[in-house]
Amino acid sequence: PGTVHWLFGDQLGPHFIDPARGGPRRDAPLLMIEARSVLRRRRFHRAKAHLILSAMRHRAAELGDRVRYVKADTYREGLREAVGDAPVTVHHPTSHAALALVRSLPSVRVLPARGFLVTHDEFGRWADGRGTKHLRQEDFYRWVRQSHDLLMEGDRPAGGRWNLDHDNRQPPPRGATDLGVPAPYHPRESEIDDEVRADLDRWSRDGDVEFVGEDGPRGFPATRREALAALHRFVEHRLATFGAYEDAVLTEDATMSHSLLSSSLNLGLLDPAECAERAEAAWRSGDVPLNSAEGFVRQITGWREYVWHVYWHFGTRYRESNALGHHEPLPDWFTDLSPEGTDANCLRHVLRQVGETGWTHHIPRLMILGSLALQRGWEPGAVTDWFHRSFVDGYDWVMVPNVVGMSQYADGGRMTTKPYTSGGAYINRMSDFCGSCRYKPTVRVGEDACPFTAGYWNLLHRHRTRFEHNPRMTQAVRGLDRLTDLEELLEQERDRRDR
Ligand code: FAD
Ligand code: SF4
Repeated sequence: PGTVHWLFGDQLGPHFIDPARGGPRRDAPLLMIEARSVLRRRRFHRAKAHLILSAMRHRAAELGDRVRYVKADTYREGLREAVGDAPVTVHHPTSHAALALVRSLPSVRVLPARGFLVTHDEFGRWADGRGTKHLRQEDFYRWVRQSHDLLMEGDRPAGGRWNLDHDNRQPPPRGATDLGVPAPYHPRESEIDDEVRADLDRWSRDGDVEFVGEDGPRGFPATRREALAALHRFVEHRLATFGAYEDAVLTEDATMSHSLLSSSLNLGLLDPAECAERAEAAWRSGDVPLNSAEGFVRQITGWREYVWHVYWHFGTRYRESNALGHHEPLPDWFTDLSPEGTDANCLRHVLRQVGETGWTHHIPRLMILGSLALQRGWEPGAVTDWFHRSFVDGYDWVMVPNVVGMSQYADGGRMTTKPYTSGGAYINRMSDFCGSCRYKPTVRVGEDACPFTAGYWNLLHRHRTRFEHNPRMTQAVRGLDRLTDLEELLEQERDRRDR
């Protein structure tokens, strides 16, 4: 038989063992290691721990005799127990720490990464000559569309425009409480889920690991079959309205038209190419409008790929970036996912949703959770850690750029041209949260002051010198001079109750 091939827990789809795509020989024995120390390191959301263990154990059951499934304390121990010093291959893992580990083991040979459209070499060639200051996502996305012939008409973008954001990003339909689209796919649990739940119960009872959030019933696919069903349901029933409302948020409609495919993609159950191709095919057959197909393809082949490559390109020190010098700790109510810690309706709602499911869509992550952390000056590394363990789709490679770069502006603008944050007016426009909130989005000082509106001005004031030199921020910073109540506002923010 061929050399033993090791599968990490986020390498679960068929494209990770395909000899035609540089994978192991068809007769190579496979190895999977469930390392308990990973769970001990952080207080994970229980739904996340459940999903990953369930997906690994389901994959092992499918692979049958071909795989050896080892439960060990650490990867090193598991490897020693399973193969000793015998040679092993593994596809490039997805975190700096895991890559350092496999490279430190002389018997392990690292094969190229799978699960992404663009290879490291291709990205390197694209990035060469641009300089790290100019690796803009929009340029990268256009290059991916061209080089992979996605949504193209000859050498022009389908429909004549690269960017349809103008048709997208609409507020929720007036007066609607939900989008009225069919619900996303929901898996049915199996005996394996029961076993996982029993294990998690036992480990927490023994005090071995500690969790946060609720677990169950499992809401996200754990097998390739379930993930394909989720993709099918999304493209058939939900993609058509994805574009227009991708940034809108409604209290009663947690999922809107989003795909909920991030955890399946990140576990390796789905390949990004098949997701993009399915969306393109739906547009070509006239089933969905171009802005929805483009919006989705942009997320998968633009943002997801870009974030993956930025993670490697910026290196291991990137996660320690703290350009704004933010050092405040996260308050306990926030880390415990406890909505009672705040009176802000938007925040209460989103924290509750994360506690119940381990998921919320992009805008609550960026413009509510992330924006709050930025405005309050929370330590970016701790914020990254919080996102990583609280979300079912959180992995180091995807969290670090999204949190450090995109949401906390801790890299000083290497990834985005300006910080993503806003006052209550944006949240009011894009959601229905403000009507029933005890605060008012237009008020910045006093009893009714919206914490996001006050927090926004407070942030601009604290970093005035830096931001006034950013052409995209100059106008906002000038707004500070028109505030007659700035001193009062700053004092109010110093004494916030929900710290
Ligand atoms: P959809 O809205 O349906 O989008 C389709 C797909 O596009 C997603 O499934 C995802 O694979 C991809 N995608 C879109 N935007 C991004 C992005 N910025 N980075 C990477 N992939 C993207 N995504 C994660 O997969 N894991 C994370 O840990 C994660 N953390 C985030 C933290 C913050 C602060 C922010 C602002 C964003 C984060 N994202 C993360 C990106 C994005 O919010 C989620 O991928 C998305 O909300 C998942 O829901 P969905 O599958 O319904 O996505
Ligand atoms: Fe959130 Fe402010 Fe709106 Fe309340 S008023 S829901 S705190 S944005």
